[in-house]
Amino acid sequence: MTVQRDMEIIKRDLFIDGDWVSANDYQSLYSPYSEEEIGSIPLANEEETNRAIASAYKARTIMAKMPIYQRAAILEQLALLLEERLEEAARIIALEAAKPLKTAREEVRRTIQTYKFAAEEAKQLRGETIPLDAAPGGVNRIGYTVREPIGVIGAITPFNFPMNLVAHKVGPAIASGNSIVLKPASQTPLSSYYIAELFKEAGLPDGCLNVITGGGRTVGDQLVKDDRISKITFTGSPAVGIGIRNKAGLKRVTLELGSNAALIIDDGIEIDQIIDRCVTGAFSFQGQVCISLQRVYVHENLYETFVTNLAEATAKLTIGDPLDEATDVSALISKGDVERSLAWINEAKSQGAQVVLGGESQDNVLLPTILTNVDNQMKVSCQEVFAPIVIVNSFSNINEAIARVNDSRYGLQAGVYTNNIQTALFAADELHVGGVIINDIPTFRVDNMPYGGVKESGVGREGIKYAVEEMTELKLVVFNKN
Ligand code: NAP
Repeated sequence: MTVQRDMEIIKRDLFIDGDWVSANDYQSLYSPYSEEEIGSIPLANEEETNRAIASAYKARTIMAKMPIYQRAAILEQLALLLEERLEEAARIIALEAAKPLKTAREEVRRTIQTYKFAAEEAKQLRGETIPLDAAPGGVNRIGYTVREPIGVIGAITPFNFPMNLVAHKVGPAIASGNSIVLKPASQTPLSSYYIAELFKEAGLPDGCLNVITGGGRTVGDQLVKDDRISKITFTGSPAVGIGIRNKAGLKRVTLELGSNAALIIDDGIEIDQIIDRCVTGAFSFQGQVCISLQRVYVHENLYETFVTNLAEATAKLTIGDPLDEATDVSALISKGDVERSLAWINEAKSQGAQVVLGGESQDNVLLPTILTNVDNQMKVSCQEVFAPIVIVNSFSNINEAIARVNDSRYGLQAGVYTNNIQTALFAADELHVGGVIINDIPTFRVDNMPYGGVKESGVGREGIKYAVEEMTELKLVVFNKN
C-alpha cells in the first residue's frame, strides 16, 4: 500500500480468520489536517464482530500449542518486514493521525523495538518450583508452576500511537500464546490493517489475529461483554476505561488511561540544557501523548528564565502539513478538540491565567500554547488537555511542588530535574504515580520498561514482560511421591 498525497482513497475490509472480509457498511475516513477523504473503512455489525470473536476463539488452541520458537520467529519476521517498510508505515500514521512525519518515523522505530522485545520475551516464559515440604503436610511432594495463555485477548486501542500501542497488545499476546481480536480507534484504522497484512506475510496462522473496525460503543462494547474473550486490554480515555471495567465482569482487564503529567525543576538546574526536552515533552504530536508534559513547576529562582527560554524555543517550531518533512506541530485529531482546547484556554484566561505564547488556532492546528499563573482547579491544569498546551508555575520549596503534582486525579509518570540526591530520593518516595523519572521529562518511555498508572491513570502495567504476566494464567502442578 503506497501512501502519498495524490493517492486514491484506501478501501479496507475486515480482517477475519486470515481473510479480507467485506462488511455490510463502510464509512469515510478523513485526514485531520486537510479534511480530504483518505479511506473507506468497514463498520462491523454484531454478526461480523461475532465472526471475528469466533475465529479468535477457534484459533486460541493453535496459538496455545505453537512452540515458543515459532511464536518468536513470527514476531522477529514482523519486525524485519516493518524495518523494510518503515517509510510506508510512517506515511500511513502521518496521514490518518496527522502525526508529523518525523514523529511518525520515530513511532515505527519504536514499534519495531516493541515486536523485537516481544520475540525475546516469548523465550522467557517460565514458572518456578515450590518447596512444598516447607509445610508439614507437603512432605514428599513436588510442586511447580507454569504460565499458560489466557485464551482470547480483546484489544481496544486509541488514536495517538496507532502502531506502537497496538504492538504493546498484539506483541505480548502472541508471545504468550494467545489469539486476538483488535479494535483500533475509528480515526486510525489503517495502521492496524497494515500490521494485519504484515502478520499474514510473517506467517501468523489464520484466525490468530483478527482486526475489526466500527464504533467503540458497538464493537468495543460487544468485545467487552462476550464470554469467549478472557481479557480486555484497553488504552484510551478514563471515561471509557471506567465504563469497560464496570461491564467486564470477571474478565481480566488492563486499563492504560490518561494523565496530566507534571515536571518539577529544582533550583540549580541549567535551564539551557533542559529546554529542548521540555519542548519535545509538551508539543510532540501536538501534546496528544498520554505522558505529554502538561504541568511544569519551576523553582522561583529559575522561573522567569525558564518561561522566557521555553517561549523562545517553542516559537521556533514549524507548524504545518504532517506529510511535510519540516513540520513539528500539525492538526489536532478533530475540530472538536480544537474547540475544546480553546474553551479551556479562555476559561483559564478569564480566571487570571496569562497566555505567554499561542492561545489560538489556525484551521485545525492549535498553536503551541504556554500559560502561566494557572490555578490547580482550572481545566487546563486538572483535566487531561491532550493538546499542545503547557502550564508553568513557580514554587519555593520541594514539598509544595510535590503536593501540587500529587493534587491530581491522575498518576501516570512525573519528572524531576534536581542536582540534589536527597531531593531526588524524597521525590521518588513521595510522588504518587506509576513512574518517577529523575533528571528527565515525564514523557520518557522506552518499550521494555513497566508502564502504567495509579488513580484514574489506570490499572495494570504494559512493557512487554509485564503485559505477558497479565496475559497468562499461573497454573500449579503437584506430584505426590508418597
Ligand atoms: P478513547 O476515545 O477512549 O478511545 C479509545 C478506544 O476505545 C477507541 O478504539 C474507541 O473507539 C474505543 N471506545 C470508545 N467507546 C468505547 C466503549 N464504550 N466501549 C469500548 N470501547 C470504546 O481514547 P482516544 O481519544 O482514542 O485516545 C486518547 C486517550 O488515550 C487519552 O486519554 C490518552 O491519555 C489515553 N492514552 C493512554 C495511554 C497510556 O498508556 N496510559 C497511551 C495512549 C493514550 P472509537 O475510536 O471507535 O470511538
